[in-house]
Amino acid sequence: MKQRILVTGGAGFLGSHLCKRLLNEGNEVLCLDNFYTGNKENIIELMSNPYFEVIRHDITFPVYLEVDQIYNLACPASPIYYQRHPIQTNKTSISGAINVLGLAKRLKIRVLQASTSEIYGDPTVHPQTEDYWGNVNCTGIRSCYDEGKRCAETLFFDYHREVGVDIRVARIFNTYGPNMAINDGRVVSNFIVQTLSGKDITIYGDGSQTRSLCYVDDLIDGLIKLMNTESVHQPINLGNPQERSIKQLAEEIIELTKSQSTIIYKELPEDDPMQRCPNIDRAKQLINWKPEIDFIDGIEKTIQYFKNKLFEN
Ligand code: NAD
Ligand code: UDP
Repeated sequence: MKQRILVTGGAGFLGSHLCKRLLNEGNEVLCLDNFYTGNKENIIELMSNPYFEVIRHDITFPVYLEVDQIYNLACPASPIYYQRHPIQTNKTSISGAINVLGLAKRLKIRVLQASTSEIYGDPTVHPQTEDYWGNVNCTGIRSCYDEGKRCAETLFFDYHREVGVDIRVARIFNTYGPNMAINDGRVVSNFIVQTLSGKDITIYGDGSQTRSLCYVDDLIDGLIKLMNTESVHQPINLGNPQERSIKQLAEEIIELTKSQSTIIYKELPEDDPMQRCPNIDRAKQLINWKPEIDFIDGIEKTIQYFKNKLFEN
């Protein structure tokens, strides 16, 4: 059945893929975005679809719409962007959550929160399961994002317990793919753009910190499955458990792009988590999801995307 679905942050990296998938599945999509880190280029191919609407709006202010489902993705996800305006980042997570939850309460509809592995902070439990409470600094430079997202989760669970809102909470681990911005600043886009343009590759710290990288198509599958599975009122980790060090990632990208770039080492930013890897048993069990796309396939598609972007003119 065709549903009318609101995607906040719909012009961003994940949001644009989600809008496209939901439209392809026969839904009507309302894409709400203030274009802080999002880009019209990401959704331009969707604009001619009469079932796609763009709403320029800041989710820290209330929104009055009639929809059947909400995916709440609005929030800058790249450290350099969420740290540039930390107060706004916090407001986006917290006031944004209150606004989408209020909408869901009035309309009696389901709402999914794009939460994050950052709620585990610099984890002391490895790999991270959903029942781990995390190791988070509340006064550091990453706190605007980490604590904002933690508070948003609290609000989701309180709206569920107190007034019965039908919530879904996805804890998303590092995801990569086409539609990441060239100047996004996250590791995969930085390394690919640097290798393709012959610039030095910037490793922060000694590169021994780890991340587990999920290709965007797998992640979008997970979000849609979570949204459409009944009664999953607990947080669900979504990510690819294949863990690699940042140094290994740099070497792999140099090899795949056949680049002459050299690695340079820069200072590790404050509170940068040392290891991160999801335990996805709960996602397997409750929503029958696991990532399917091989890292090399995913990274090659991403390299091709950035080649087209960088050299298209
Ligand atoms: P992104 O920065 O590409 O997209 C975020 C979108 O939200 C952008 O289009 C931006 O303009 C919009 N936005 C920001 N503040 C807003 C506001 N106040 N009102 C309306 N729109 C606003 O990031 P992304 O990678 O697509 O991440 C999407 C969501 O998923 C975020 O909530 C992020 O925290 C979460 N997440 C992403 C990852 C990942 O690896 N990509 C990992 C964990 C969590
Ligand atoms: N990183 C790096 N060089 C870069 C960008 C990032 O070494 O040019 C490191 C960063 O310090 C972190 C990891 O790569 O340890 C992932 O960073 P990203 O910003 O992608 O996401 P995070 O998981 O830290 O939010």
